[in-house]
Amino acid sequence: MLELTISDTVPVVIIGGGISGLSTAFWLDNFGIPVSLFEADERVGGVINTTLKDGFLIEHGPSTLQGRTNELLETIDAAGLKDEVLYANDIQKYRYILKRGKPVPIPLSPVSFATTNLFSLSAKLRLLGEPFIKPSGETDESVADFVIRRLGKEILDYAVAPFVGGIYAGDPEKISLRSTFPRLHALEREYGSVIGGMVKKMFDKSKSPRPKLFSFRNGLKTLPEKLANILGDKAETKSEVKNILPPNESASCYEVTVEKGGTTKIIKADSVVVSTPSFQTAKLIEPFSSDAVNDLRTIEYTPMAVVALGYKRKDIEHPLNGFGMLSPPCEPHKFLGSLWTSSIFIGRAPDGSVLLTNFIGGSRHPELTELEPEKLAELVHSSLEKLLGIRAKPILKEVYIQKKAIPQYTIGYHEKMNSLEEVERKYPGLYITGAFRGGVSVEDCIANGKATAVKISENFSKQNNVPLREAIDV
Ligand SMILES: Cc1cc2nc3c(=O)[nH]c(=O)nc-3n(C[C@H](O)[C@H](O)[C@H](O)COP(=O)(O)OP(=O)(O)OC[C@H]3O[C@@H](n4cnc5c(N)ncnc54)[C@H](O)[C@@H]3O)c2cc1C
Repeated sequence: MLELTISDTVPVVIIGGGISGLSTAFWLDNFGIPVSLFEADERVGGVINTTLKDGFLIEHGPSTLQGRTNELLETIDAAGLKDEVLYANDIQKYRYILKRGKPVPIPLSPVSFATTNLFSLSAKLRLLGEPFIKPSGETDESVADFVIRRLGKEILDYAVAPFVGGIYAGDPEKISLRSTFPRLHALEREYGSVIGGMVKKMFDKSKSPRPKLFSFRNGLKTLPEKLANILGDKAETKSEVKNILPPNESASCYEVTVEKGGTTKIIKADSVVVSTPSFQTAKLIEPFSSDAVNDLRTIEYTPMAVVALGYKRKDIEHPLNGFGMLSPPCEPHKFLGSLWTSSIFIGRAPDGSVLLTNFIGGSRHPELTELEPEKLAELVHSSLEKLLGIRAKPILKEVYIQKKAIPQYTIGYHEKMNSLEEVERKYPGLYITGAFRGGVSVEDCIANGKATAVKISENFSKQNNVPLREAIDV
């Protein structure tokens, strides 16, 4: 029989223990506001997870952080993780794109751009005209349309499409420039030219240090685990939130139903933060707004399989001198990209071995994520064999499949966000965050988590007439 308990009112309930929910909870706790976080799974971290197997340190989801945002660095600092940070080796600046069966280096300077065989002479000359192309009046253009219009088809095929496939698992024909790459969108609006704007920004930034790619000594799961550790029993795993009821005439606060083992708890809360993926959020906010529910349901997630392969170094001809390689959709390879993980970070593979982390599926080949793990490993190995000159079978094969991996900010995405703002306005104390809103990268999730915590603490201070703690960096 299910046991039912009803709690006293708590200030804030957070639903979801991925990095979005954890960073919101961490900052609220840091500001001195009591929180209760519920995570359905038996571990925190959501798509962030790391496994150590036979001396290989393998990421199931994200592998690297960029350090673009202050919020990420502040969170690492406040969580006491600075000493755990592991910077990428300098070699990571070299990246490759596959062309006619070979990894071709991405040019890093104007001189190497002029001489690279990645792009034809006509594609290079076409770029000289880019500053003279008038901005389009289109407000929500696909990445493909934008790039073809301003930079040409070859730049789409051999620069932008591989990047969009490898990083976002997305289709440049479908994803919205404005929503996925707001900075690129802004360059055209502000400077009338992407190239001109980039050059101008490069000079503006030349005095500030470039962000450095990093992870943690024991992998990315260090971050969610540490945040959960600091939260202690304020973060509960194996606790699935079944529903949320809005305040009504008989109850002045939200009621959150949580199932844990054989127990059902009803938690009363002044504020609720929903940080689950959009398809889960849609279910949870059903009693609040049918418009928001419909919009959330139409946010597409692409599937992704991460295929980690370990080899003996001596069995690979290629020097693996770089970050890795991306595969353009116009080339015949099945995988989207391959990270040369043990070249990027020290300590990712045992001595004399290398670790390659490969991505397969996405919107380009979603059907491949239906294959058995063994088949996927074989498929990736047979592609890499020829491309990198691999002479032996892998000594490590690990496959992690996520059916709904990365939310896609497709055309029309921007309008979908209006109904979320509307429901938050209508229900003060309800906050919706997560990778489907305001950026998919780990650091965007952290920045949005902290911003949510700041908003809640401002409201909390107003209601309780408490001055904002100095720690709040607004
Ligand atoms: C393969 C892959 C590679 C990536 N690579 C990078 C990278 O290199 N760098 C980068 O910055 N980003 C990368 N990303 C993106 C980034 O990792 C994610 O966007 C981000 O971690 C998502 O965090 P989240 O908390 O919003 O969602 P999630 O991690 O999905 O967390 C949501 C949590 O909510 C829980 N939950 C769901 N329903 C309920 C419920 N009813 N009750 C309680 N809990 C519930 C889930 O169990 C889950 O733990 C990658 C993503 C993937 C999939």
